[in-house]
Amino acid sequence: MSALRKVLVIGSGLGGLTLAQSLRGGGIDVAVFERDASPWDRPQGYRLHLDDDAVNAAREVLPGHLVALFEATSQFTEPFTTILKTDLSVVRRLPAHDDHGDVWPGRENRVHANVDRATLRQILMSGLDDVIHFGKELVRYEDTPDGVTAYFGDGTTAHGDVLVGADGIRSAVRARRAPHLTTVDAGITALYGRLPLNAARSRVPAEALQDIFAIASDDRKVFLGLGSVRFPTAPARAAADHSPGTAVRDQDDYVVCVVGGRHQFFPATGDLSGERLRDLAARTVADWPGLAADLIRQGDAESFFPVRMYTSVPGTLDAPTNVTLLGDAVHAMTPTLGRGANLAMRDATLLGRTLRTVAAGDRELDEALHHYERDMTAYGFSVVRQAARIGEQRMAQNPLPE
Ligand SMILES: Cc1cc2nc3c(=O)[nH]c(=O)nc-3n(C[C@H](O)[C@H](O)[C@H](O)COP(=O)(O)OP(=O)(O)OC[C@H]3O[C@@H](n4cnc5c(N)ncnc54)[C@H](O)[C@@H]3O)c2cc1C
Repeated sequence: MSALRKVLVIGSGLGGLTLAQSLRGGGIDVAVFERDASPWDRPQGYRLHLDDDAVNAAREVLPGHLVALFEATSQFTEPFTTILKTDLSVVRRLPAHDDHGDVWPGRENRVHANVDRATLRQILMSGLDDVIHFGKELVRYEDTPDGVTAYFGDGTTAHGDVLVGADGIRSAVRARRAPHLTTVDAGITALYGRLPLNAARSRVPAEALQDIFAIASDDRKVFLGLGSVRFPTAPARAAADHSPGTAVRDQDDYVVCVVGGRHQFFPATGDLSGERLRDLAARTVADWPGLAADLIRQGDAESFFPVRMYTSVPGTLDAPTNVTLLGDAVHAMTPTLGRGANLAMRDATLLGRTLRTVAAGDRELDEALHHYERDMTAYGFSVVRQAARIGEQRMAQNPLPE
């Protein structure tokens, strides 16, 4: 394989943007191609739980002023999940199990933060205006003697030495690079919405809003999850938010609320308005004692949206080519552990490090991609299995096929 001059990244999710920041920081020519017409085309969720992987990835790939903005807009939490009874009283606080191997030597360990997804994406996009191309849906790619050519739905093409599929769970890149790797329905639907923080404060114990997440579930394995997102250091945020083009939108503190379980409890959610989804969420826990249904009814009706959960089926990648994958494009998982974005950002940072050594002439591309793919699939699919096991226990997720 040839030396590294240009990297094409398909997808501007958290993984693709992290990789673009890393490559840009290393002086490598990178172009990102995004199917959506703009960054805010569709709702992509609210709160994200970040652990050592995403926090240290952001600290490694972003320039200093964006690291400051990232820190200032993160709510660093206690390293616990609060387990609640259905009356929303506390049963216990489960410590998080942090095992990130030796990926982040010299950096902070056992760190947990709740962040607003749109804010994080905005920070990761900062400074990349000339690199990201919107309205570019990859439809196919072809290997050529000197690299790889990407073909887009609008009839345009792009050429690079390496193409990275960071295009999420329905990856078009994976469909060609690793067609044997599949995803399956996890059997779970979840309804997500936002509550004002004050409405939650008066109805749930304080721990539930300090920890990573709080969760209650019933005999049907229907669950209610709550995770707060606060912007705790407004002055620091204002101070950090100084460079043109990086201003993050004003946000009120909020609590993300999720009600989920087997599909049968949430029929035909695709056709329902936000208000009807909020009502369905509240009705699903109406038999619970205490304030669960009342709490959900405090939610912003427009904010509710449904998610049908899918998971990757673990497998292997064939010998490396100059096309590789990261994040949900290869190892999507159910959000039981809150780790999908963390792994996407870990993959992107490790791939960025690897490609930088290739660009510096210290390593051959095929050998570098071989090591990246071997490590990434090992830890990625291990977490997919772990998420599925916990999902089976806690929310009756379908077992992974053998
Ligand atoms: C409701 C919900 C809550 C979650 N909570 C957490 C959490 O708390 N913590 C956590 O770590 N993870 C969480 N996850 C998982 C996390 O969101 C994903 O793992 C993460 O977003 C994956 O990032 P990615 O960059 O690999 O893919 P994505 O974020 O899916 O980005 C893929 C991008 O590629 C683009 N694209 C797709 N196809 C094409 C194409 N053909 N051409 C060009 N562009 C294309 C898409 O438009 C998209 O912008 C949650 C997921 C959901 C659904």
